[in-house]
Amino acid sequence: MNKKRSVLVLGLIALLVIVGLFAWLLTGLFEKEPPSAALRPLPEFLSGPRKFTLNIADKGRGLRSFRVSIQQGSKEITLADGSFPAQGLLAAEGVPQFESEFTLDPHALKLAQGEVDLLARVWDYSKRGGGEGNMTLLSHKMIVDTIPPSIRALSRMHNVNVGGSGFVIYRTSPDAAESGVYVDRIFFPGFSGKKDPDDEIRHCYFAVPHDIPSQPKITLWARDRAGNVTQISFPYHIRKKSFRQDKVELSDGWIERLLTYFSAFYPLEPEKSSIDKFLKINKELRRENDGTLNQLKEKTSPERLWDGVWLRQKNTANMARFGDHRTYYYKGAKVDEQDHLGVDLASVANSPVQASNHGRVTYADRLGIYGFTVVIDHGQGLASVYGHLSKIDVALGREVRKGDTIGLTGETGLAAGDHLHFAIMVNGVPVNPIEWWDDHWIEDNITAKLAVTE
Ligand SMILES: [Zn+2]
Repeated sequence: MNKKRSVLVLGLIALLVIVGLFAWLLTGLFEKEPPSAALRPLPEFLSGPRKFTLNIADKGRGLRSFRVSIQQGSKEITLADGSFPAQGLLAAEGVPQFESEFTLDPHALKLAQGEVDLLARVWDYSKRGGGEGNMTLLSHKMIVDTIPPSIRALSRMHNVNVGGSGFVIYRTSPDAAESGVYVDRIFFPGFSGKKDPDDEIRHCYFAVPHDIPSQPKITLWARDRAGNVTQISFPYHIRKKSFRQDKVELSDGWIERLLTYFSAFYPLEPEKSSIDKFLKINKELRRENDGTLNQLKEKTSPERLWDGVWLRQKNTANMARFGDHRTYYYKGAKVDEQDHLGVDLASVANSPVQASNHGRVTYADRLGIYGFTVVIDHGQGLASVYGHLSKIDVALGREVRKGDTIGLTGETGLAAGDHLHFAIMVNGVPVNPIEWWDDHWIEDNITAKLAVTE
């Protein structure tokens, strides 16, 4: 009896094990977790050949096959595919993961402009789906746009002085998302000519930096949302200018006075000599301050705020000109060289300083070598700078009218004597203010061009 029961129990256990194994095998074979798939990158536009990566994996039975294709209308073209031989126990499993790289070239595939669908299908070795396996479908829609925007100059006669400003009016096709002028590698953005931001007529102020190495190349440039770029030449003439050489003798008395002023807010290593401390201010702090002034271009108004000729500080003598190349001497030896990027105007101490044109205050604070400084944005990249003030009379963000008093002259910062350091910047590049003080220059270079397009 006992023996019979034992056999029965054993048989039952064996049966359970078999059933269990079978169930385990079935659920394994018929697993329902689809493969994972990831495509990179996922661009919004396709403007030219582009490399893509497909990463696929399957945690269950493993990968069986995949296919990547591009679909446009009824046309579907395979870009990459592959299948994986079964391996492992009873030759029943595919590989767990795979990476595929492929290039999608809209020209080679003769894709039309407009929407396309990038599709990736991945199958695993599950017995589901009538033995086909679980399938994952990835779809990424893109816009094929391989046509660059058009751009052309509307204004003529672009005569620009080295260290001076230029102005061009141009037209782009409506798809241009960004446009402007390149002077060698320096970009000057164009702004909408009218209030309607969709208008394709743009105004662009640009500058030929005073220290540009040789004859720069000036081009019109536009880019659409897909990244297509057009860069073309337009008629211009650059006039060479020579700048003055200036000699600055550094006296111990002046250096000590400057160091007393700067030590209050600018860290200087105490173990360094006075001349080394001065040179740190003249080189490093100057570079930092010029960088701060340059970055104010980001705050410019897209609309023109100025009108007419710029005001020149009243009853003042011109103490230093724009672009003066200054060589600094200390005890007979040359110690530094810097360019003067504004005009120094002097009259009596603490004279009221007027806003040179309408605009909005984008800086009103201490600024290193420039001392107490006010910057007024005049819109579309134009700005004026007022340095070495003894007092600031405007608040940041305030709108000012031409002639408004914004402060008093002084000698704060790196200054020898009471004067106004006045500068004009075109998209952050300092230019010779003399042009902006000249109503003939404004008439010939700006107003006359605007009259043609308005
Ligand atoms: Zn100056």
